[in-house]
Amino acid sequence: MYDVIIIGAGPAGLTAAIYTGRAKLKTLILESNIPGGNAGITDMIENYPGFPQGINGGELMALFLEQAENFGAELVYDEVRGITSANGIQTVITSQGQYQGRALIIAAGARRRELEVVGEKEYIGKGVSYCATCDGLFFQKSQVAVIGGGDSAIKEALYLSDIASKVYLVHRREGFRANETSLDKMLKDTRIELKLNKIVKRIEGDNTMMKNLVLYDVKTGQEENLEVEGVFVSIGMIPASEFLTDLLDLSNGYIITDENMMTSIYGIFAAGDVRSKKLRQVSTAVGDGAMAAAAVTEFLKE
Ligand code: NDP
Repeated sequence: MYDVIIIGAGPAGLTAAIYTGRAKLKTLILESNIPGGNAGITDMIENYPGFPQGINGGELMALFLEQAENFGAELVYDEVRGITSANGIQTVITSQGQYQGRALIIAAGARRRELEVVGEKEYIGKGVSYCATCDGLFFQKSQVAVIGGGDSAIKEALYLSDIASKVYLVHRREGFRANETSLDKMLKDTRIELKLNKIVKRIEGDNTMMKNLVLYDVKTGQEENLEVEGVFVSIGMIPASEFLTDLLDLSNGYIITDENMMTSIYGIFAAGDVRSKKLRQVSTAVGDGAMAAAAVTEFLKE
């Protein structure tokens, strides 16, 4: 029996673990993948306070994990399949068994959205990627495309422009969601060419690699071929809340909490990108994690 089980070892989950570990609560972190979440695979994080030159996401997340483990949190690699809550006991059902705790913090994050077009699944690992930091180096001196108009897409395009010979940024409209600083940087980068008002219709290639994107212009209705060896899909996130079924109140799949991060079930808290909120950043995930841990500490005293 743990005092608190934390689902997810991204910035929210690891911050919560630092706080609950330091409060001497018996803390278990469950993670199905590599610790660090989406932040861990981000090349450069420039807006997390304390690092004026920016910091590599993997390095930052390794420090978070080290700090959580120093305070006694236990990390177990296991995939969560479901949760039940009865008589003040939270049970987490996983692919390997089950764990019980008096409180639960869900910090499972969000995963990348897919385009859902013909050829996407077929060419994953053969040109189709969702992470430039992970796969970008395979495309040295190649022509690549990035899809999306948010912060992630712009970051991916900027990262790839140092590696590839040419980067096309394909976005479905003319306005961008990305912040002005990144946007300015991208617009000044002559190696990045914008393809606006265009959506990807299908991805084509041969048996080994993708070779072409068929783009559809939403204004003119024209199709065009864009010959690229790689495409990086950066079109937003989907909350990792499927395992909850109907247990908690959700909004578009994101978990609704009060200001103390408590969900609709007493004793179950949520933090980070999986939570319904406006700004999804490492800094806000850290705030959520700290708040959830403080609320859990109070809750367990009661
Ligand atoms: P966003 O939701 O911000 O942007 C998604 C982009 O993809 C939008 O431009 C959207 O277009 C486009 N899009 C969505 N669905 C489709 C589709 N089916 N086909 C084509 N285009 C599509 O997601 P991000 O991953 O960029 O960012 C998520 C959060 O993380 C944001 O809060 C962001 O600020 C934050 N972030 C911050 C970073 C930083 O350095 N500060 C870095 C990376 C992320 P449209 O605009 O038309 O809806």
